[in-house]
Amino acid sequence: MKVTVLVPAAGSGTRMGKGVRKQFLLLDGQPILAHTLRRFEEVPEVCEIIPVVPAEELEDCLEKCVESMGLKKVRRLVPGGAHRQDSVYNGLKAVEPGTDFILVHDGVRPFVTVELIQELIRSLVDCDGAILAVPAKDTLKEVTKDQIVKKTLDRGLCYQVQTPQAFRYQVLKDAFASAYADGFYGTDESMLVERRGGRIKVVTGSYMNIKITTPEDMILAEALFRKEASDMKPNSWRTQTP
Ligand code: C5P
Repeated sequence: MKVTVLVPAAGSGTRMGKGVRKQFLLLDGQPILAHTLRRFEEVPEVCEIIPVVPAEELEDCLEKCVESMGLKKVRRLVPGGAHRQDSVYNGLKAVEPGTDFILVHDGVRPFVTVELIQELIRSLVDCDGAILAVPAKDTLKEVTKDQIVKKTLDRGLCYQVQTPQAFRYQVLKDAFASAYADGFYGTDESMLVERRGGRIKVVTGSYMNIKITTPEDMILAEALFRKEASDMKPNSWRTQTP
């Protein structure tokens, strides 16, 4: 079984409001992206990791996020595209034939655990895709464009979706081809497979698997990093379904 991981990290990071793109901000002295890549390096099932980074940062990224970390599973970096979906597609086009499963993971989610990644891979046995998600804690409302409430969603049936998202290689390839043929852009890869009737399993993730997007996320990330470092069993936190 050959598993390849695509790590989109080519965003501009404008919501962070800093001079440096958020994926390259330092957490304990290392770029966030480097922490993320290391998590997948530690998963025995993963054969190759393909980071997708801004074209003008390819060399810098290779040096600071790959070589300095001694990562062996990153053998190539790919330049990103205008939207996240384009970046993932660039990565997908670089995948070697013979791959069975593809995982897609945001470069700015450094707290995913080895155990969760392995559970996600195992979950692919009887479906087209498997995604990490956590039960919604807040009540969720669907609203109109001018922010008038349309309806309240049934919270018990709502999950907040994270990455990684895992797919059978051919399923994901076909879903991307079809999305581009139709000019469809989704906010995650699962959407592309869903619209073709694919069966996607939800695997309960962790509330620690945050996406670092805005400055307050960086405060949280530093606290989570400290907690993990001082934990007796790092990487073992697991969300319990309420
Ligand atoms: O913008 P968002 O928070 O959804 O980005 C999620 C991930 O996708 C980030 O790691 C970001 O760098 C990446 N991305 C990308 N190419 C883009 C936009 C976002 O690889 N054009």
